[in-house]
Amino acid sequence: MFVFEHVSKVYPNGTIGLQNIDLHVADGEFVAVIGRSGAGKSTLIRAINKMHPITDGNLLVDDVSVNQLEGKALRKLRRKIGMIFQSFNLVTRTTVMRNVLTSFVPDLPLWRRVLGIFPSECKLKALEALDKVGILEKAYQRVDQLSGGQQQRVALARTLAQNPTLILADEPVAALDPVTARQVMDDFRRINEEMGITVIINIHHVELALEYAQRVIGIRKGTIVYDGPASKVDSSIMQAIYEEQIDESL
Ligand code: ADP
Repeated sequence: MFVFEHVSKVYPNGTIGLQNIDLHVADGEFVAVIGRSGAGKSTLIRAINKMHPITDGNLLVDDVSVNQLEGKALRKLRRKIGMIFQSFNLVTRTTVMRNVLTSFVPDLPLWRRVLGIFPSECKLKALEALDKVGILEKAYQRVDQLSGGQQQRVALARTLAQNPTLILADEPVAALDPVTARQVMDDFRRINEEMGITVIINIHHVELALEYAQRVIGIRKGTIVYDGPASKVDSSIMQAIYEEQIDESL
């Protein structure tokens, strides 16, 4: 569960990222954040794990005020918040398994980290995570031999291996073709429905947002202009979110 209370974010150069955001997302929700480029979608998502610290207001994750967290406490929070990026952020010159296993590195003693020797229980959890996203058979292939969609699934498996309660996804399907984008969105849906993990996705494909998310948050110029069910998003709401770009966005 996370809550934004009058949250604003001004970047050091004076650019306003978010303005007075109030938001409450309960456990188990699947939320899509939509809006024009530069509207503040990424800033909102990245505020939640303090990648982009807020400058005003209060942001709570499971009743803990994120902005006050530093060092170990912040790392602990980030362990339960998975993050998925457009560019996958994998080490492509090594195997799928090695990438997923990196998820356990912070929990291991130094000698294991140095030698890269992982306990068998970690390997089992990594294989389970790969199975959940349907690429178990790729475990010992090099990442650079996989398609973009498969690479995003590896990133998803790496995140699942850390047992998150919340997944933040920042444009996770923007680099994928439409068919593959759907497959990855199907994974997010399954993870949300079957594992109960809260998912919040910044996505510029409006049709995918409306199809997959239960709840849509529309952002314009750093403020929320729509927050409600995907099924209620009509053309006037789209107009409010996208202003004159409405035709392009549809
Ligand atoms: P979106 O994800 O909707 O495209 P962003 O959250 O990336 O929008 O950006 C919101 C606003 O903040 C934009 O005006 C953008 O230029 C600005 N911005 C984003 N990151 C930075 C940064 N690191 N420094 C300064 N301004 C930034």
